[in-house]
Amino acid sequence: MKEEKKKIKKVAGLNINLANCKYELLREISGSLGFHIVDEDEWVLYWIDTGVSLERVLDMKSFQRINHFPGMHEICRKDHLARKVGKLARIFPKDYNFFPKSWILPHDFMDFKHSFKPKRGQCFISKPDHGCQGKGIFLFRDPDDLDESCKFQSVIQSYISSPLLIDGFKFDLRVYVLVTSVSPLRIFIYKDGLARFATEPYQTPNSRNISRTCMHLTNYAINKNSKGYVVDQESGSKRSIKMVLQELEKLKDVDQQVIWNRIKDVIVKTIITAQPALCKLVKPWFPSSVKTPMTSCGSQCFEILGFDILLDSKLKAWVLEVNHSPSFTCDTQLDKDIKSGVIGDAMKLLNITNAHQFKKKFTKDQKQSSLTRLLKPVTEKVEKTLSETTLINEPHNDQYTRAINQYHEKYNPEILEKLTEFEDVRLGEYERIFPPQDTDKLGKYLFLMHETANWSTETNTTKARKAYKELQKLKENKKQVLLEKWKLKQQTKHINPKVNTTTDKLNFKKQLEMLDISTLKRADYTRQLYKDASSPLPKEKKTIPIKVQNMSDSFHVTKPYEFNQDARYASYANTIAKYSDLFSMNPLIEEKKKELSKITLKVNTRIKRSYMCE
Ligand code: ADP
Repeated sequence: MKEEKKKIKKVAGLNINLANCKYELLREISGSLGFHIVDEDEWVLYWIDTGVSLERVLDMKSFQRINHFPGMHEICRKDHLARKVGKLARIFPKDYNFFPKSWILPHDFMDFKHSFKPKRGQCFISKPDHGCQGKGIFLFRDPDDLDESCKFQSVIQSYISSPLLIDGFKFDLRVYVLVTSVSPLRIFIYKDGLARFATEPYQTPNSRNISRTCMHLTNYAINKNSKGYVVDQESGSKRSIKMVLQELEKLKDVDQQVIWNRIKDVIVKTIITAQPALCKLVKPWFPSSVKTPMTSCGSQCFEILGFDILLDSKLKAWVLEVNHSPSFTCDTQLDKDIKSGVIGDAMKLLNITNAHQFKKKFTKDQKQSSLTRLLKPVTEKVEKTLSETTLINEPHNDQYTRAINQYHEKYNPEILEKLTEFEDVRLGEYERIFPPQDTDKLGKYLFLMHETANWSTETNTTKARKAYKELQKLKENKKQVLLEKWKLKQQTKHINPKVNTTTDKLNFKKQLEMLDISTLKRADYTRQLYKDASSPLPKEKKTIPIKVQNMSDSFHVTKPYEFNQDARYASYANTIAKYSDLFSMNPLIEEKKKELSKITLKVNTRIKRSYMCE
């Protein structure tokens, strides 16, 4: 009884602002951790259900924490995630193959239409790009089935038509992931989560079942109203992930750990796509020396993300969506058990309950200096190395080693170790997934992160030019070494008469030829570099129908038409502009010219917007 009282004793200065949080669970947990719930400025923790703006974070005092990173929309908006992962899938097809092929409408509509080939069993899913809880989602089989309204502001994906089933039902997994800092990146996965089941037995989509949402969508919001919804922790429509993994081990004889490792891998790969952008917005957090007492386990911002993962019949893990504000509503005891663990353990790991003790230490000057630092981009030294070099030409092992070396140049390994120790005793049910313990894995992730930073800030041409230059340098160095060796061999020929000069000469010539960069034109090299990234858009002579909104006519342009992968909007706008003269030759079209220029303008505005988002 005494202990109970001690637990709920409020700690002076430990204030949490929940003015913009609707979850009762947060109030309960805060109370049990000794927080005072306040709605004024004197807080150490601000928990907010929506995202946060950069301005709010800039306004924060050094000891204050907030539960979001500005810029997390990079992966939490369906269209942004599709664009980002789609781009990386073209550069690293083996690593970024866990996100269903996607098209962002309206600008990818032509691409979608052109790449569409009717295939048996093929199906697509359309999602509003800002949607949630399954609202506005539907399945379709042919681009012509889409009505006009769906061609705007939505994401179309290939439908994964062979999901893993349990008892004949489709399910997806809500996995909770905690990011405590982005520089250095620290990611933790909660060891349990929720498996959400559809409530109608699954069938591959066909014309009869395509609109049955309770068969194809696993959202709780959709299925909870279905007659088939069962409340049972072991065999119901919502179960714990641990329970589901155990069941899979029993039913399908699969190793739970293998599935879990796949899930961890796709989560890390998704988050590292946003890391470079997040770093630009958030103050890097890292103790300056080993001696500095570790006051907390992260930056001023942290985030609990809800990953929606779908397992297919081959046990491959697909990322469907990342939620920056996963629901903490508790309709059942299972919800409560898991969600309170997710929040409570996160607070412990972040060491938030100690934050008020450090409040006094932060003087006005310190606040000023931290603000100046906030406005600066991430550590310039690393930014420079990231943007000036690409590791893509190097053999894998070298790439990984170099990436690790750069990482240790930026973050003192001794301090990193200390940080790990500090976290290890506070993990609760969390498990660190970045940085991973396995050095090879770390190297690979760091390499991908490095390349993501490189490839996301420049155009493909600039990147290719840079990579070509690097290759040129690399080959030139190797050539010099080869020539030196050859010279040495010639000089020592009389000492070693066994040397077969004819074969040697041939070999030498061959090697030299291989190192001759002039045989490789930059354009060919670019093509080679983009072999996997080849644009699915039409490159040859094609008839491009340009359908203008609200017009009955559709224009057919029969001219070589090239889309540039990176400047799709620009090309679209240019094409319209380019051919507007052609259109105007037709008297019927002349009267619509005004409308056409309006559309060009609209597309141009979108270009600006799209570039701003990048
Ligand atoms: P929302 O944010 O509205 O919940 P999701 O992207 O999570 O949207 O999709 C809702 C549900 O639709 C998922 O839980 C899943 O069951 C199903 N789903 C989404 N995308 C796919 C896909 N590409 N293939 C198969 N099922 C999908």
